[in-house]
Amino acid sequence: MNPIELSFEFFPPKTQEGVDKLRATRAELAPLKPKFVSCTFGAGGSTQQGTLDTVLDIAKDGIEAAPHLSCVGSSKESLRAILNEYRSHGIRHIVALRGDLPSGMGSVGELRYASELVAFIRAETGDWFNIEVAAYPEYHPQSRSPSADLENFARKVKAGANSAITQYFFNADAYFRFVDDARKLGVDVPIVPGIMPITNFSQLMRFSDMCGAEVPRWVARRLESFGDDLESIRAFGLDVVTGLCQRLVDAKVPGLHFYTLNGAVATRTICERLGAQ
Ligand code: FAD
Repeated sequence: MNPIELSFEFFPPKTQEGVDKLRATRAELAPLKPKFVSCTFGAGGSTQQGTLDTVLDIAKDGIEAAPHLSCVGSSKESLRAILNEYRSHGIRHIVALRGDLPSGMGSVGELRYASELVAFIRAETGDWFNIEVAAYPEYHPQSRSPSADLENFARKVKAGANSAITQYFFNADAYFRFVDDARKLGVDVPIVPGIMPITNFSQLMRFSDMCGAEVPRWVARRLESFGDDLESIRAFGLDVVTGLCQRLVDAKVPGLHFYTLNGAVATRTICERLGAQ
């Protein structure tokens, strides 16, 4: 029995090589007995088939699979069709997001915020889906203010979400404070920390810049100082992220959701160091 509930996030591969690599990753992570695994969705439907194919491939192994679904750039009709397709395959778990419109892609779509997508899913499908939404302990980069972002988070939970997964963070206090503040707004669903293993300095800085996650200065400077020494980057990254996870586990968080980037080694090593087997 794992001391903590784990879930893993993948993205839909674009090539056969990517499909094979993801199968190998899943096989390596399966012994950790995740509660579920999820697969991302390209805003505007760009990975729609890939998300479905990946989720069905995962479900074949008897593992609960949750497709992500974003509403930006999509019509209600196309969202309804996707929901019906998932239902027809017996998929009952979904991660509902607004998404980000790729630059150059025209219309925002019929639903503007994730809260509207959650309400739409509930109106269309009742209690069929277990719905997850996104949470931002360091606040969403486009939010007007921290308090407005918290209120918007509470709004989408009240629209019918069952639980939330956070954007990744390296500062546990931001998460603890966010959870406390959300509870004061009446949010009582589990808020599961999203965990980003550190394996690559430039990729980490690029992602963090885009999504508004802070990489503490001492972590960034140490990583930068390793230059091309990937071994040292990985070893330091494992120490930092395992330490963060241990603090979260000690505080009895409801689970850990790993952004695997379709790789197994870092996620598996961290989970094993935490005592998962
Ligand atoms: P929302 O909850 O709608 O919030 C977006 C912004 O609008 C916030 O600033 C919020 O404060 C504001 N807002 C919300 N409601 C209102 C309102 N009524 N009035 C005014 N402002 C409002 N992206 C993908 O494209 N595909 C994925 O598969 C994907 N998976 C993700 C999984 C997780 C766990 C996380 C944390 C993020 C994921 N993302 C994904 C990224 C996500 O789509 C982006 O962060 C996006 O910018 C916001 O999505 P959201 O669902 O949080 O939006």
